[in-house]
Formats: sequence, structure tokens, C-alpha cells
Amino acid sequence: MAEVKPERYRYDEPLAGYTSFRIGGPADLLVEVNTRAELANLISYCERAGIPWFFLGRGSNVLVDDAGFRGVVLRFGPDFARIKVEGTCLRAGAAAPLALVAEAAARHSLSGLEFASGIPGSLGGGIYMNAGSYGGEMKDVVISAEVYRPRTGFTILSREELKFGYRSSVLQELGGILVEALLQLTPGDEAVIRNRMKELNAQRRAKQPLEYPSAGSVFKRPEGAFAGKLIEEAGLKGYRIGQAQVSPKHAGFIVNLGGATARDVLALIKEVQTVVFERTGYRLEPEIRILCRE
Ligand SMILES: Cc1cc2nc3c(=O)[nH]c(=O)nc-3n(C[C@H](O)[C@H](O)[C@H](O)COP(=O)(O)OP(=O)(O)OC[C@H]3O[C@@H](n4cnc5c(N)ncnc54)[C@H](O)[C@@H]3O)c2cc1C
Repeated sequence: MAEVKPERYRYDEPLAGYTSFRIGGPADLLVEVNTRAELANLISYCERAGIPWFFLGRGSNVLVDDAGFRGVVLRFGPDFARIKVEGTCLRAGAAAPLALVAEAAARHSLSGLEFASGIPGSLGGGIYMNAGSYGGEMKDVVISAEVYRPRTGFTILSREELKFGYRSSVLQELGGILVEALLQLTPGDEAVIRNRMKELNAQRRAKQPLEYPSAGSVFKRPEGAFAGKLIEEAGLKGYRIGQAQVSPKHAGFIVNLGGATARDVLALIKEVQTVVFERTGYRLEPEIRILCRE
């Protein structure tokens, strides 16, 4: 087994506290890895032994099963959260919160990450999902990324090789773990950058139900429409199953009113998909990653 210090092994660790939905049962084992060797050794071990594994970022786009995960959940420790400025570029570890990467850019008068300052995920999760908002997407700033794959090892992928699409990247096909990324920004004025970040975050607070646990927008934007608008038109704003509710503030969000289960959320997702299809003809596809058996 990889040489990870025992205190970074947590057996039967409840996952709810590692997700922004605050939902999910225990993982058989949760391991915080702090070096590239630990990451590679652990994943190789799991692959050889046939043990299922899952890589978790800041848990802001996942729904975890009520029964938890039978296998190993890996996360990065603080050594993967470093951020370094290199001229007009930023080099940052995958575990760095997007808010802190955007903050570092602002502090160095570098523009390009204002859109990301209110997205609650990590840099790794943001690139894996090609996270975006207010006209910006991670693909606009990524030059290259270091990725680990079980049979290939560590390689550098260029922006083209990362094959970004709407809320997608090649990592979703390859099953690769993003370790570090190089971002290209442009020189700007710190005050202007900070004002833009403030303005966007105020818009978020006004429109999104940030007072409740959620995983952000549940569904991808369908071609030519907005998921939230379709859900509202289908009369589902405020609709509730158990403790999971289509947010009355933003119908694209499902919120946990307190004690919601993954089963509640999955039933609500299904109901929304069915009713929206019947009433509007649009098929909604989940954006959130579902780590569930159902
Ligand atoms: C209130 C709220 C607002 C949000 N607003 C937005 C928004 O405006 N725009 C937007 O795009 N998203 C938004 N999100 C969703 C979420 O923040 C993003 O998708 C974010 O990029 C997910 O990052 P994470 O680290 O939390 O990933 P996680 O939720 O932990 O994981 C998501 C997926 O990424 C994978 N992953 C995580 N880290 C890595 C890594 N290092 N290497 C490989 N794979 C990895 C996981 O395996 C999983 O499949 C919002 C969420 C919330 C709760």
C-alpha cells in the first residue's frame, strides 16, 4: 500500500461533510494524499486489487449515495493547493479553491478569473467540469494541465488536448486526475478586477439560494433554453420531495432544506425531468456528478 501517514486514512468516514449538498453516507476509506507518489501508488494499488475509487475535489458538484461509497475516496491535501505567479500566468495545484486562485490573480493585477471567484469548487474540479459563469469558462484561461492516469502516469495536456466543451473536458472520458494547471491571464487594474468580482458575487447572492446546502445548478443548459426557466414554466418552482426542494429563488437549484437524502434528491431530479419533458419537450440532463447506485 502507498506510504500515506495513518492519520490521513479515515475509515467509514461520512462523506456528507465533504460535500456542499451535505448529503451522503460513509466511504469505506477516505484518504488525503499529499504527494504525487502517494496519488500514483494508491490508485495503482486500487486498480490492481479491483477496489473502486473516486476522486473528490471540494464536493460542490456531487451527490453521494445515502449508503456512501464502497471503496476508496481520494482527496488532495494542502500541498496540492499552492498558487504561484509566473509573469502573467498562474501555476496552481488542483486543490486550490477557485475563489483563492481568483483572489491571487486580483492581488497581482491579473484579469481573466473574475468569473470564477464565486464558484465554490477547486481548480481541479473546475477544469474537470469546465466550470463557468457570467460569460467566462475555465477553458478561456487554461494553457495546460498536469494529469495523472493509472496506466499512463503523469503527463502534461495542452488546452487542445483537454478538449473542453460545455461543462465537460476530456478528463471525464479519460478518468484522469488533474494535479496542477497553468493559467494565462492578462494584465489589468486591481481595483477594476476587484469591482467586477464584487459585482458578480452580489449578483450570485441576489439570484442563488446560497443560504441552503446545494450543488449549484443541477441540470445542464439545454440547447436554446435555460433549465431554470423551463422548470419554472413547468410549474415546479418550490416543488418538494422529502427535504429536497426545487429552490423557490432559482428553479435550476435543488436545495437541501435540512436532512434531505440522496433518495429525495434523485426522486426530485426524475420528477423534474419527466414533468419538464411532458410540458416543454426538453430533456434535462444532470450537470452534477451522481455517486449513487440507483
Ligand atoms: C452554490 C453553488 C454555485 C455554483 N456555481 C457554479 C457556477 O457558476 N458555474 C459552474 O460551472 N459551477 C458552479 N457550481 C458547481 C461547482 O462549484 C463546479 O462544478 C466546480 O467546478 C466543482 O469543483 P469541485 O472541486 O467542488 O469538484 P467536486 O464536486 O468535488 O467534483 C466534481 C467532479 O470533478 C471531479 N474532480 C474534482 N477534482 C478533480 C481533479 N483534481 N481531477 C480530476 N477530477 C476531479 C470529481 O471526480 C467529480 O467527478 C456551483 C456549486 C454551488 C454549490
